[in-house]
Amino acid sequence: MNGSGGELDGTCTTCPYCGVGCGVQARRDKLNTIQISGDKDHPANLGKLCIKGTHLAETMVPTGRLAEPEINGAPVTWAQATDHVAAQLRRTIAEHGPESVAFYLSGQLLTEDYYVANKLMKGFIGGANVDTNSRLCMASAVVAHKRAFGEDVVPCSYTDLEQCDLLVLAGSNAAWTHPVLYQRIVRAKQTRGTKVAVIDPRRTSTCDIADLHLPLRPGSDAALFNGLLTYLHDTDVVDRDFVTTCTEGGGEALAAARLELDQVAGLTGLTQEQLLEFYALFAEHRLTVTMYSQGINQSTSGTDKANAIINCHLLTGRIGAPGQGPFSITGQPNAMGGREVGGMANQLAAHMDFDPTHVDRVGRFWRAPAMAQAPGLKAVEMFDAIARGEIKAIWIMGTNPVVSLPDANQVNQALTDCPFVVVSDCIRDTATNACADVLLPAQGWGEKEGTVTNSERCISRQRRLTEPFAQAREDWRIVCEVAAKMGFAEAFAYTAPSEIFAEHARLTAFENQGERLLDLSHLATLSPTEYEQLQPTYWPAAQRPFANGRFATTNGRARMISVTLRPPEQQTSSDSPLILNTGRTRDQWHTMTRTGVTAKLFNHTDAPRLHIHPQDAQQRAITDGALVQLNNTLGVLRLRALVTEDTQPGVLFAPIHWHERFASHATVSQMVAAATDPLSGQPESKHAVVECQPLVAGRWVRLLSRRALDVEQLQTLQGMTYWATAPVAQGWQYEIALDDLSMLLPLLERGDCVTYTDSFDNDRILGRRAGHTQWLLFASGDLETLPALSHIQKQLDTELADWQKLATVTTSQQDVSAVICTCFEVREAAIRAQIDCGAASVEELGKQLLCGTNCGSCVPELNALLAQSVPRAVSAQG
Ligand code: SF4
Repeated sequence: MNGSGGELDGTCTTCPYCGVGCGVQARRDKLNTIQISGDKDHPANLGKLCIKGTHLAETMVPTGRLAEPEINGAPVTWAQATDHVAAQLRRTIAEHGPESVAFYLSGQLLTEDYYVANKLMKGFIGGANVDTNSRLCMASAVVAHKRAFGEDVVPCSYTDLEQCDLLVLAGSNAAWTHPVLYQRIVRAKQTRGTKVAVIDPRRTSTCDIADLHLPLRPGSDAALFNGLLTYLHDTDVVDRDFVTTCTEGGGEALAAARLELDQVAGLTGLTQEQLLEFYALFAEHRLTVTMYSQGINQSTSGTDKANAIINCHLLTGRIGAPGQGPFSITGQPNAMGGREVGGMANQLAAHMDFDPTHVDRVGRFWRAPAMAQAPGLKAVEMFDAIARGEIKAIWIMGTNPVVSLPDANQVNQALTDCPFVVVSDCIRDTATNACADVLLPAQGWGEKEGTVTNSERCISRQRRLTEPFAQAREDWRIVCEVAAKMGFAEAFAYTAPSEIFAEHARLTAFENQGERLLDLSHLATLSPTEYEQLQPTYWPAAQRPFANGRFATTNGRARMISVTLRPPEQQTSSDSPLILNTGRTRDQWHTMTRTGVTAKLFNHTDAPRLHIHPQDAQQRAITDGALVQLNNTLGVLRLRALVTEDTQPGVLFAPIHWHERFASHATVSQMVAAATDPLSGQPESKHAVVECQPLVAGRWVRLLSRRALDVEQLQTLQGMTYWATAPVAQGWQYEIALDDLSMLLPLLERGDCVTYTDSFDNDRILGRRAGHTQWLLFASGDLETLPALSHIQKQLDTELADWQKLATVTTSQQDVSAVICTCFEVREAAIRAQIDCGAASVEELGKQLLCGTNCGSCVPELNALLAQSVPRAVSAQG
């Protein structure tokens, strides 16, 4: 049933995290607690959820929520807040023109939110400075689609991943970033025998299913695919009919791409044998899908890289039919919906651009008084314009650019100096909110109604599961109230998201006449009841995109694009000899504003780790687990090292999620230069250059506290070197490096203390109040001699009360190995023990320990442990 609010007896909605767009069902159990499960009828996931989706209900808590509107930190009524925002925007526009204001949106917003914000800016304010954090995710793919196909249309669907014979995964660690889709691929490989080639500088969990892994040099993807285009042409793997009748530009593209094998090897760092193996695989399999993601897009030549991929599919005619095509997968849940309404600075609306015909058409449809005539500023340009004082008012909705945009320190400074900053968000304390003049409480997932579109063009409903928190309102309603107070009440008089969606659908159909594939005319007359009951719906409605060989260009032909190679903008030097790659961990999401409240999601990775190759580590005297500092001209990062051969010599990797609320010096984006693709404006987030050195800590502390410490006080403690925190079942855990332990103790809850000094001269202290242990702290000059945090958690559970018991706490490592399966909290040690007892497959491990039997996110790591056991077994026999 698709209920809304009230009784929850299986309300269908969608997961708010990644671009897979899984269907979710919500029920209330006898204790009135919301239970989440996968929607078996949703075509994206067929009942499956990954670990993040599984724990969605735990994020629906009041912890950290923004409860009421605020102006300059003081609570105000909604009427006061929206009066103030409307007046400030009006005044700024009157004094400095429409280009002096900007909206910065989020791929987490719903399509209806996006639509009204885009309409207000481009039709009524008269500027086009409306952009989105999706710029960081897939903007290069959007431009590549428009260049090649004439319209931003993703040619594939998830079923194509199950119907292809070869799947090329380029710049995508799908096992961690799109886990449910990855599980579909795994099952297809098992049943169909699909060949899988992974193109990634790192050996990621996705390589678990790779028949071929190409660990190419960072940034060299275009050379690899230009070489493939050359190879396909030279070996006559060309669909001549298709190329002749359905494409143009092939001759020029081939000439620009021409690279001999040895040249490709030199550029990519791959051997000629590796290249030939990949090229032959591609040549042999007509049913090929190339799925690509941020590893391709986040580059100063991301658009060219995507077009280099598309060129190979056009030359071989592998597009527009089942099991074939280039497939860009988005990172965010509604990046696609934002693209559909035109919520980006270089789009107008409904897949129309800024040519005069489109501006006139949209202006007539909206009855707009002040249509924008030209594209606005893309994300990085927008914040540069704020820094220069050209943009004087910005409204940020549902995103945290101070943490996520490149050159984050500069973004922070720009927002601090901006005369008027409004932020709508669910969360009270974010780095971006700290810069805001006005805070507007927005409804969170499970509180609002609307639609999202996933990576395969499937529109699904998000539905209300619970009453809104405090005074939180829907984003679309906040925008419409401000628009009304700016003098545009008639055009923004919506009373429900169904009315906005219907208008959006009508605009896609308006004077379309087959010009644009995005035509939602079949949804334009939905009644509120039909909207409420809307089932997952694909566009185009009639047939798969480009099935008839016609593209959305003026002459109907797809364009093969000439791609000339460009290196990444940041080049290593003697000061910054290492490349820093960035990306996601398995169980966290973006800047952790939601996943950061769920203790279980920290079981897999409880603090950021810097992946470094043993060779680089040895050269710098860095050992596994040691504290290291990264430097470049933009910032400083401090993390503990993970020495691993999964990354290449000369290339580091750090996760994007952590920032000042969870760890000191952990905002990775401050190390990334604001270099962007000249066509798409997408930043080169996967290619910073840095130096890395070990950092000496005076004293290491592991602490478990029932009460959270004030992280601002922690950060500014004298002699503080490093800290990282995570929620746990009992409260909060901390790992801290500092000069003087006595500086930390005043931050802890007051009460009586019990202290004990062990044989290593390490301090063990517990703090009590009213006879109950409130915190437990272990300190040492040597991190290795401290018990693991998970071990300390068990001690707090036993309510340690005196020093005799404190003295018995050991540094046993038996049960403190990493949690591999988060669903059933199965640790690596237990899995290794089962393997040593003879378990030889994931299925056997699942039978014994349950690991891998729920969401499947841990299956690649289970396979890696199984693979590691083979040499052990051989050497034992030997
Ligand atoms: Fe959500 Fe996971 Fe599905 Fe992505 S794969 S939509 S995070 S449940």
